[in-house]
Amino acid sequence: MAEPIISVEHVSFAYEEDAPLAVSDVSLTVERGGFHAILGQNGSGKSTLAKLINGLYLPGKGRVTVCGLDTQEDKNTWEIRRRAGMVFQNPDNQLVTTVVREDVAFGLENIGVPTEEMPARIEKALADVGMLAFAERAPHTLSGGQKQRVAIAGVLAMQPEAIIFDESTAMLDPRGRTEVLEAVKRLNREQGITVLWITHFMEEAVACGRVHVMHDGRIVLSGTPREIFQDAEKLRPYRLDTPPMARLAQRLRAAGMPLREGILTVEEMAKEVERLCK
Ligand code: ADP
Ligand code: MG
Repeated sequence: MAEPIISVEHVSFAYEEDAPLAVSDVSLTVERGGFHAILGQNGSGKSTLAKLINGLYLPGKGRVTVCGLDTQEDKNTWEIRRRAGMVFQNPDNQLVTTVVREDVAFGLENIGVPTEEMPARIEKALADVGMLAFAERAPHTLSGGQKQRVAIAGVLAMQPEAIIFDESTAMLDPRGRTEVLEAVKRLNREQGITVLWITHFMEEAVACGRVHVMHDGRIVLSGTPREIFQDAEKLRPYRLDTPPMARLAQRLRAAGMPLREGILTVEEMAKEVERLCK
């Protein structure tokens, strides 16, 4: 495996001393350039894990390192937050100024980037998410997907190694969701930015290199999307469903269409139907 960027080793965490563990003996490694998804129902511990990774919470047991820096050590806090940026669910809570460009600049001021270096960084970050043309706009005039891309630019301007997305598409319409996921895939593919993509949309996890399923604070399944989604029975105990295209394929098979196994995406379905219709 390539060098680990995010390493979580047997980590447990409870919000209060006698509270049940929100994260329970979790181990997870994300390699440089990896694109991993975390799936799980509400309350399964996904956000807590995300906050443990970027040092907002410290593990009760176990160890978290980002680029080899231990979150337990105070002196690493800012460096870890710069190297592993986070994008949250609600874009409105992440945009703090009245002009897009200033919003992207905001984080840079906090980490002490010299003023003369800022414009180039801001413009590159906005261009990377396809939002450069909106630099002088007011964030409240943008769509949800555009706002979320500005929030991503704010993180990108800090030149992170990894970005953790905590249900960053949950509040968006389908078009905004696609727009954001496509932008993130491009950052991963073209710039090698490591991605941890937390979601409850099965179809979003299909595009990832590796999927981890959380349930009751634990990681209960890990594998490639194909390994995780080929068997609906495996997911049922965690009250998760297979992706829509896998379900459709299952139904069509039950109705007598000889579709191959392992269909997860619209593209794969289209190809298979075309093959059968020849
Ligand atoms: P998810 O992101 O998968 O929905 P969370 O990490 O938010 O899950 O929550 C995991 C568990 O921790 C849940 O039981 C939740 O009620 C509890 N929890 C989350 N945030 C807090 C908090 N700030 N204080 C106390 N308990 C919390
Ligand atoms: Mg959450």
